[in-house]
Amino acid sequence: MRHIAIIGSGPAGYYTAEAAQKQWGDDVRVDVFDMLPVPYGLIRTGVAPDHQSIKGVSKRYETTALSDNVRFVGNVMIGKDVSVAELQQLYDAVVIATGAPHDRKMDLPGEDLGNVFGSAAFVGWYNGHPMFANLDPDLSGDTAVVIGMGNVALDVTRILSKSRAEFAGSDIVAHALDILDTSKLKRIVVLGRRGPHQIMMTPKELGELSHLTRAAPRVDPADLPEEGEDALLEPGLRKSVTHLRSFAAIPESHYADYPIEIEFDFFASPRALIGSAGKVEAVEVERTKVEAGRAVGTGEVYTIPASMVVCCIGYRSSPIPDVPFDERAGRFANDEGRILPGLYCVGWARRGPSGTIGTNRPDGFSVVEKIAEDMAAGALGHGGKQGRPGFDALAERRGLDVVTFRDWKKIEAQEEARAREGAPREKFVDVADMIEARKG
Ligand code: NAP
Repeated sequence: MRHIAIIGSGPAGYYTAEAAQKQWGDDVRVDVFDMLPVPYGLIRTGVAPDHQSIKGVSKRYETTALSDNVRFVGNVMIGKDVSVAELQQLYDAVVIATGAPHDRKMDLPGEDLGNVFGSAAFVGWYNGHPMFANLDPDLSGDTAVVIGMGNVALDVTRILSKSRAEFAGSDIVAHALDILDTSKLKRIVVLGRRGPHQIMMTPKELGELSHLTRAAPRVDPADLPEEGEDALLEPGLRKSVTHLRSFAAIPESHYADYPIEIEFDFFASPRALIGSAGKVEAVEVERTKVEAGRAVGTGEVYTIPASMVVCCIGYRSSPIPDVPFDERAGRFANDEGRILPGLYCVGWARRGPSGTIGTNRPDGFSVVEKIAEDMAAGALGHGGKQGRPGFDALAERRGLDVVTFRDWKKIEAQEEARAREGAPREKFVDVADMIEARKG
């Protein structure tokens, strides 16, 4: 029997569990750990609440979770409740699948001003992550600046733009819906340090900006390269740029019908956040040009008034004590998923925050292949690890309050029962409430 511990119950974790099942069938036992009492990581707290079809992938993870050889071990924080070294003594292989839950910093003056948020915090807030439930953004001003030209910037922009009615059928948490409902925003500036040909936004997500009921996108035609140059782009990016061209062609009269403008500001690199009384009031920006794909400052500086700022410039993994970490890249130091003998990483913890949710499936299968190779080569010792019973004894000794998948199903049932009309669920945003809800 092989014993595998996976730290993190998001997409990378469950795809790895699925791959282990396919590889070893009844000859493996997999424990999937999560610091929260609820599973699915990024699917629950990262994917936008109005993208329910993407969140639907959790049904696939549930099939894996409900099989006899995989179990969910919630409410256990590895690195605090139990160390990685302890897991390594109990399991043949330990796989870190903790994603990249922290914001990359811009390291700019003023980044710590009030009403400035990183996207991990802001997305976590509207998705009900217990760590960010109390963020309490102030939407009483008229201009939000969203920094970054990736899909997270699009998610944040869209969520800030939508009316209450447009959240029908979503699982946005009540505390966020109530604050968004008070929004006085009139302008959302999406700031990119490079140009339209260098955006990271995908076509479907960008196209959604054309269908908002109270916000309209605006692109300055002067920012767009010659149309012929689009032919050189890879097809996905070319499609995205086609959306930008259609935004640039929107007639001026159109905007009169929309109280919110979403303004794309290209070739604009943030230099500082400026504020008073501890609160942000503007973003200082340097105009750039793109040379050999890189943003180069032109020396022209201007300021954009900003009552709030959300930085959507990428994420970092969270280090775990005693596990080698690549500080510069913000992920675990690894060679194709191998960290140390018997210790692996997968998904964003391995490669950094890129790709779609589906990218994690081949990643999961690949790390299991590495584990199988290492086992076959005798690099992981000669078995005899205790696995589950060993962990259960440790949890008992330490008085850990482990949440099982069966407990999660009770929490889920309660979240569904308290959903507002038309919504799939109303999430608990407090760990104590989740624990209480498992009583059924
Ligand atoms: P991303 O796609 O890497 O985009 C990050 C953006 O931040 C880029 O435009 C980058 O510009 C900019 N940036 C980085 N450092 C900056 C700085 N110091 N100053 C100004 N701008 C800076 O990252 P993401 O949006 O966080 O998304 C992470 C991953 O999740 C991506 O793979 C994304 O596709 C995926 N995702 C997918 C969906 C979906 O499919 N619906 C939704 C959300 C996220 P440069 O290019 O110039 O560096």
